[in-house]
Amino acid sequence: MNQQSDIQADIEAIGQIPIVENLLEVICRSTGMGFAAIARVTEEHWIACSVRDEINFGLIPGGELKLETTICHEIRQSGREVIIDHVADDPQFCTHHTPAMYGFQSYISMPIIRKDGSFFGTLCAIDPRPAKLQNPQTINMFKLFADLIAFHLNAIEQMDTEYKNISDERRDIERREIFNRELEAANRKLAETKRELQAAVTRLTESEEKLLQAIETGRMGTWSIDPATTQVTMSGFIKEMFGFPTDSEPSMEEIMDAVDPDYRQMLIDVLSNAISNHQSSDTEYPITNRLTNERKWVKATGRVFLDANGNATEYSGVLMDITERKTDDLRKNDFIGMVSHELKTPLTSLGAYIQMLYAKAQKTEDVFTANALEKANTQVKKMGTMINGFLNVSRLESGKIQLLKMDFRLDELVKEVIAEISLVNPSHNIIFLPCQPLTINADSDKIGNVLSNLLSNAIKYSPKGKNIEVVCQMVDDYAQVSVHDQGMGIKPHDIEKLFNRFYRVNNKHTQHISGFGIGLYLSAEIIERHDGKIWVESESGVGSTFYFSLPLAG
Ligand code: ADP
Repeated sequence: MNQQSDIQADIEAIGQIPIVENLLEVICRSTGMGFAAIARVTEEHWIACSVRDEINFGLIPGGELKLETTICHEIRQSGREVIIDHVADDPQFCTHHTPAMYGFQSYISMPIIRKDGSFFGTLCAIDPRPAKLQNPQTINMFKLFADLIAFHLNAIEQMDTEYKNISDERRDIERREIFNRELEAANRKLAETKRELQAAVTRLTESEEKLLQAIETGRMGTWSIDPATTQVTMSGFIKEMFGFPTDSEPSMEEIMDAVDPDYRQMLIDVLSNAISNHQSSDTEYPITNRLTNERKWVKATGRVFLDANGNATEYSGVLMDITERKTDDLRKNDFIGMVSHELKTPLTSLGAYIQMLYAKAQKTEDVFTANALEKANTQVKKMGTMINGFLNVSRLESGKIQLLKMDFRLDELVKEVIAEISLVNPSHNIIFLPCQPLTINADSDKIGNVLSNLLSNAIKYSPKGKNIEVVCQMVDDYAQVSVHDQGMGIKPHDIEKLFNRFYRVNNKHTQHISGFGIGLYLSAEIIERHDGKIWVESESGVGSTFYFSLPLAG
């Protein structure tokens, strides 16, 4: 608190003393003086706290006198009362500036000393006339009144402190009550959360049981690998599939032993990739049951679980028996392979006959027949390509596709394929940008198939008269070929599935374009088997660029 508000509080304290008015009245009556006051006197201020003014002195409570003009200033310093019966007769005060200034002849001022010994102010009275003050009754009365005021001030102060303490205590109690209420609410919430948690655990246990049941009935099992030790744990179903004893966990070697030798390396690669790169896995491979020697196909999907620091804690998933589906697939494949093969023989002879007739028609200058036979030949070639596609799919699926690798110039192959395709497709302008010599070690027939498939698609899926640009270049240690068209383009959600078997984009632009969705699937398989990469960049309505890259011959 600053000094100003201190003084204000003191004035208010005096105002709270109920007897003050009576006191001042008694003083005036018993001394015959016209002005009595209680003043708060500090080092700098003289301020009237309570006043009785019958002589129009002109001071009201809160009014201030300049400290140096008062005698109270001296009383404050000496701590002693000053009493003047008649200023004019008083040797000390007759020349004093205060009586002269305020025009009084009688004066009495008694210090008010607080209980703690500090100086509060004065109880004083003045009058323009002389008065009889120097007598024990008057002096004692003033002393008594000053003490009474000090006593009241002390009582008020104590009350204030008490009140403050009580308020503090009440605030404490209130705060405690609020805290208790909050605590109760938090406890209730906690109890509720606990109930919810218990319910969730029950639900979780139930769904886990259901899941396990579903897994068992769906001919599936669960497995888990500890990334640190590669220790494997598996459910009873998987042990049964592999022919392992149900009461112990098999080692990784024992598992690999049961896997078809052709698939072991792939499985090892997938496993190490999952553990070191935290990649999910989805594999299909054949196994041989150790007890029955039965061959089965399994599909295993797995996911790596990480701790808060991003370290792999578990690699786990499910394994299912897909023998039936796989056998079905293989049967279908065999059928496709057989039919395609059977179709090839008559088609080859049909082609040969057409060629013969064409030669004859040319010789006899039968232009109409020659033209018709030329068209027939183009159709036979198309059919041949289709049948070859199916044949290749079936070979690929049954693992019978063979790569005949040798060193050859990719740039030259590109040139040859473009020339061949341009001949039968004059509708489009295929531009081959200049290319440096690039030698790769690959199956040139199969790479030729990939390129011819990309070019056929560029023609099929872009309007007549548009340019198709083929670029062949070295990027890092790879030979990269790209086929760019200005066709209908492909939407992002189709791009993801474009290289899947039998996938075709289904929209109003593509529905009248024939195809089986095997060209890109085959191309991707061929490129991947050459350790290369195939991808596409496309914008719907603008055009597409298909790329593939293959390692350069080392
Ligand atoms: P398809 O015999 O259907 O052409 P592909 O495997 O070669 O089979 O292609 C799969 C699908 O990819 C096609 O059906 C087509 O929708 C889309 N596609 C392929 N190439 C292009 C291209 N250059 N522009 C637009 N769409 C393409």
